[in-house]
Amino acid sequence: MISRFEFASDNTAGICPEAMSALTEANAGAAASYGDDGYTARAADLFREVFETDCDVYFVFNGTAANSLALASMCQSYHSVITHDAAHVEVDECGAPQFFSNGVKLLTVPGENGKLSASEVERMVTRRTDIHYPKPKVVSLTLPTELGALYSAAEIAAISELARNRGLKVHVDGARFANALASSGASAKDLSWKAGVDVLCCGGTKIGMGMGEAVVFFDRGISAEFAYRCKQAGQLASKMRFLAAPWAAMLKDGSWIRHAAHANACARRLAGAIRGQPGVSIRHPVEANAVFADLPEAMHARLADRGWHYYRFIGSSARFMCSWATREQDVDRLAADIAEAA
Ligand SMILES: *Cc1c(COP(=O)(O)O)cnc(C)c1O
Repeated sequence: MISRFEFASDNTAGICPEAMSALTEANAGAAASYGDDGYTARAADLFREVFETDCDVYFVFNGTAANSLALASMCQSYHSVITHDAAHVEVDECGAPQFFSNGVKLLTVPGENGKLSASEVERMVTRRTDIHYPKPKVVSLTLPTELGALYSAAEIAAISELARNRGLKVHVDGARFANALASSGASAKDLSWKAGVDVLCCGGTKIGMGMGEAVVFFDRGISAEFAYRCKQAGQLASKMRFLAAPWAAMLKDGSWIRHAAHANACARRLAGAIRGQPGVSIRHPVEANAVFADLPEAMHARLADRGWHYYRFIGSSARFMCSWATREQDVDRLAADIAEAA
């Protein structure tokens, strides 16, 4: 039996051709280390061009580091971060945000499809204001959410406005930010600084790089000394050009959005093919590259028999993720196996 990891996650895919050729190109000869090279400068300049603002950009190895170090730089140890119950920073980072911030507390709120609502955030901010309570300092939202849903620019702006009025900063976990851009058609600035976002962790791994996430500071006051934080955390790459070169190439040629759009389209194709099959119900809006489906227990066993690996860590729904590498024939094969197992 063949093991099929195509839909287990968007990080089961390999490295996309654009990132691979950028690595090969960056490998020709010596270059300055620790980010003083031309690739890193070019990638940061391209972020400023794409986001149309003078942001400060750092490259780290993975998303847990990006989020944790960004949040640590936004908080004192006695602060708290308001986020969703299902947020990656809360349930998938092994306490790294608390660890790197020396004790910041995460205050979690519920919300449909992984989304924060301004009213729930407000309730959490105003619940306590006394000195015995960890002072709310940041609102952290995930775009697209862990459940595959999008926030509109207006929804982000509403949360940001509330945050600003209460003296809080706004952080976005954008591990799949390109998927949100591709799906909504919004510009990078519309879903970030123009909507009030102070810091964006922008994911590269899940759109086709081997590794590498960008921490983008729109509020440059927050990024002072961020490089020291990266170094102390073991996240200052000495051969930084191998994190930065794929970013430079993919921002330049638009493939970061193209690959995300392809992954989104595959998710829509899958949802369209399995929606309405007996026993199958799609659990959340399919607005990015994830499909969550409730399936009968016996169907899970039959799909496992056919080799399909996927996660069921949120509720008991199956999560099918699509990536830059997902082929239409893979989608159709999975859909056919689901139909046959129904
Ligand atoms: C994948 C992912 C990350 C990054 O995870 P790492 O494994 O640390 O790279 C961050 N946030 C979300 C929502 C993710 O899905």
